[in-house]
Amino acid sequence: MKTGILARYREHLPVTDSTPPLSLGEGGTPLVRAERLSAVIGAEVWLKLEGCNPTGSFKDRGMVVAVAKAMEAGSRAVICASTGNTAASAAAYAAKAGLMAIVVVPAGNIAPGKLAQAIIHGARVLALQGNFDQALAVVQELVARHAVAPVNSVNPDRIQGQKTAAFEVCDLLGEAPDILAIPVGNAGNITAYWRGFQQYHAAGQIRRLPQMWGFQAAGAAPIVQGKPVAEPQTVATAICIGNPASWHGAVAARDESGGIIEAVSDEEILSAQSFLARAEGVFCELASAASVAGIRKLAREGRVPPGVRIVCILTGSGLKDPASAVAGVTPPQAVPAELERVERELGWS
Ligand SMILES: *Cc1c(COP(=O)(O)O)cnc(C)c1O
Repeated sequence: MKTGILARYREHLPVTDSTPPLSLGEGGTPLVRAERLSAVIGAEVWLKLEGCNPTGSFKDRGMVVAVAKAMEAGSRAVICASTGNTAASAAAYAAKAGLMAIVVVPAGNIAPGKLAQAIIHGARVLALQGNFDQALAVVQELVARHAVAPVNSVNPDRIQGQKTAAFEVCDLLGEAPDILAIPVGNAGNITAYWRGFQQYHAAGQIRRLPQMWGFQAAGAAPIVQGKPVAEPQTVATAICIGNPASWHGAVAARDESGGIIEAVSDEEILSAQSFLARAEGVFCELASAASVAGIRKLAREGRVPPGVRIVCILTGSGLKDPASAVAGVTPPQAVPAELERVERELGWS
């Protein structure tokens, strides 16, 4: 069995004979039918569990290509700006490749699990007093002045790798879904999925294309508002971005597919995360829950055609940031190790 997307989708990727066969086992993530969510939406809903990638997010699909290409080009170091998951992924793949990683993150606005990953994999972590958009601007200037390979999603190899998730959806369902629901932050991923669907369509692997439904957080919804947001704010830190680098790609995906890009509130995101955990057994991170928050909102508004097949992309694992998932929940009180006390606590006596 071929492990990793470079081997599995080689003919669709910028792989040459001198591209190293880098892999941490990314891709091949589960696509799970969501019965209770389907009942709520009145449609056939599937969840693509991208949190099952090696570092816990879809970023690994693009990172394996970007780092392999950096190795092929003889780079010794990679650099990225990140809301967290890109940093975690860059750090892990650089470690595997034997390269140095430099990650620039917005100070105080990164989930603890993601920061821990970047540190434990040995990246040089720079906490910037600024937001993601400022971090990306700094990285772009550094790249122009120093010999270091950029691995943000403005790197076309990242988009190439990330499109393989669209291939997997089609390979597993035998056809494209009617609707692809996805969170939008820097907008690289919606751009990548749309490219993947288009390429599979052109290659005759699928007969139709899905509508692309993108969802931004209401406090960080520049594409919805049609202008950059100077100070984006949302609990979903992975999509807390005010000026997406792939803005045009997202708009093209929306318009060419007859889709939408809309906003969901933090309350709707939190509620979707908790619903998925309780009703579907899936613990995704807050940004990921925006895709499900979005289809729940549209279903309430009567805008989901009955019976359509929807795939929701759950971009990352909830274990990245357990504290924010259970904020406001009282932790369990310790009970003495005595059967009677335990029974009383459970209300069984
Ligand atoms: C990066 C990320 C996103 C946003 O993806 P973009 O390509 O920036 O739009 C969403 N969810 C998670 C978990 C992410 O890490």
